Amino acid sequence: MNFRGLLSIYLKPQWRRVTLLTVLLLCGIGLALVNLQVVRFFIDTALGASHTQSAVSTSLLVGAIVFLITAFARQGIGLATDYLGELIAWKSTNALRADLTLHCLRLDMPFHQLHAPGELIERIDGDVAELGHLLSAFIAQIAGNGFLLVGVLIALFSEDWRIGLGMTLYVVTALAVLSRLQKLGVREWEASQQADAAHYSFLEERLLGTEDIRSAGAERYILARLHQLTMNMLGAYRKARLISNMTNVATGGLHAMGYAIGLGIGVWLYQAGQISIGATYLIVAYIALLAAPLDSLRRQVQSLQQAGAASRRVAALFAEKPAVQEAHSSVAATLPTGALAVDFQGVTFRYDHAASLALDDVSLHLEPGEIVGVLGRTGSGKSTLTRVLFRLFDPQAGVIRLGGVDTRSVSMSDLRARITLVTQEVQLFDASIRDNLALFNRTINDAQIETALRALGLWEWVQARAVNDAVEPHTPSMLNQKLGGISAGQGQLLALARAFLKNPGLVVLDEASARLDPGTEQMLDQAISRLMTGRTGIIIAHRLRTVQKADSIAIFEHGRVVEYGRREALAHDPDSRFNKLMQTGLDDWLDGESASMAGVTPRANGDEV
Ligand code: ATP
Ligand code: MG
Repeated sequence: MNFRGLLSIYLKPQWRRVTLLTVLLLCGIGLALVNLQVVRFFIDTALGASHTQSAVSTSLLVGAIVFLITAFARQGIGLATDYLGELIAWKSTNALRADLTLHCLRLDMPFHQLHAPGELIERIDGDVAELGHLLSAFIAQIAGNGFLLVGVLIALFSEDWRIGLGMTLYVVTALAVLSRLQKLGVREWEASQQADAAHYSFLEERLLGTEDIRSAGAERYILARLHQLTMNMLGAYRKARLISNMTNVATGGLHAMGYAIGLGIGVWLYQAGQISIGATYLIVAYIALLAAPLDSLRRQVQSLQQAGAASRRVAALFAEKPAVQEAHSSVAATLPTGALAVDFQGVTFRYDHAASLALDDVSLHLEPGEIVGVLGRTGSGKSTLTRVLFRLFDPQAGVIRLGGVDTRSVSMSDLRARITLVTQEVQLFDASIRDNLALFNRTINDAQIETALRALGLWEWVQARAVNDAVEPHTPSMLNQKLGGISAGQGQLLALARAFLKNPGLVVLDEASARLDPGTEQMLDQAISRLMTGRTGIIIAHRLRTVQKADSIAIFEHGRVVEYGRREALAHDPDSRFNKLMQTGLDDWLDGESASMAGVTPRANGDEV
């Protein structure tokens, strides 16, 4: 898809406006040409001897009025075309922005890991802004100037074919020469900008290091270096400016040549008695009209090239396809209702470019309503398990079934409606409490939210956290207010409420590893118990209390399940890892590796303060 392709896609829905704009542009150009005809009439009438005195002054008056009307109408139309051109450009680029944003939101995790948010912002906004800029310029200026050029040439032809021909030859030559001149000096300007940039970065760095520079007494050295840089700037700028001026002079010379040709032919025709003095004026005025479009067309050619690059980048972004392919809607299976059975069979997964497997032949089975507690040190693959379940990534081998259905045959929307993932990092939005809980879903009403919060035992807690700052001022409901600052554990409480509102058949909870205060911990426990009632659950546990809720336990190590069984049985088996874990305490076990990796050693003596 190139610039023309993008133009046609985003201009098509606005064809009415585009047509109106074209008509207005043509009218404006028509008026500009007519305006000069009036002047010609003026001159010829004033000089004409064949009329009586009073007839002459009446026609002059009429001419003056027509001239004024066309002049004002031209201004009005100019305003309208500018407005319409901008409107069309904004509407289409906003549509393009929306499409790109949606596209990026739909792209999967591998894409988002490769592209930082800042880069995407630049591509969604920067490139599109450049395109939009050109779009408005393109419509209003390129098209307008092109029309004007053609209009003037037609008008000249209609005066006299010889003058028309002469000026057409001139315009073609001038366009060719101007586009050559345009390319001159580009390199010099780049060098000048480079010199500026070097100067600024030097200044920034030295100003930041003021303290060090002064303490080292290096001011004189800095000034000498600055002098060098400013001299470079001057040299580069002088060169670029000189070339620019030369091209300006050449452009001016070209225009003067146009005048000379036009005037020469005009005078020759006038002397031969073929045209009037008014027509001669008209020809010269038309040639003056040519200068502006010639110049701006030359400049637009350059922005067209820039837009070419921007539209290529936009097209490349559009061409990004998610690696995780959605099941085709016509063949998509549906998940059963109620609590879902979960079946991992030989699931193996490696992140792109990773040296080792993140999941290595993982098999787990959960009956509907069963809760498995997943334990493992940091980096053992627990979160990865939830990501492949949620199809943020597809495993390289193995099958995942929900309620007996392969997740790859289910539509993403169905899958994500029936599973809820409560991650370690909960994203809160700068929005009201209700929007944060219902995730902007307007079909969930306040009563449902209140019921959910009460069911989880969180109603009073949320109430206490509402900041007295209503997002929607005319509705006094607490839910329309914003939330105050939230800790990681508190974020999880809200995420549980979100999950409850979705009413899923499977809840996957990746517990925050942050330490919780006892009050929050108790509330979290209660809320988790209530959320899990009647649902299948996978809980990645970082606390002993959460593990107690599980029916079975899976212990991960380096992506493998190294122990898997009923919790009761494992707890009573003196040789099981789980049993040992319960003895040493989960925190110690989880901390063990990271503490030794960080080289933390207990303090040898206690007299440090
Ligand atoms: P934690 O307890 O700290 O949350 P975890 O068990 O959830 O750890 P995972 O996030 O599943 O660990 O990571 C498993 C392994 O995969 C780790 O070695 C990690 O470095 C690697 N890994 C995780 N995410 C990515 C990624 N996006 N790209 C490449 N490697 C990754
Ligand atoms: Mg994790």
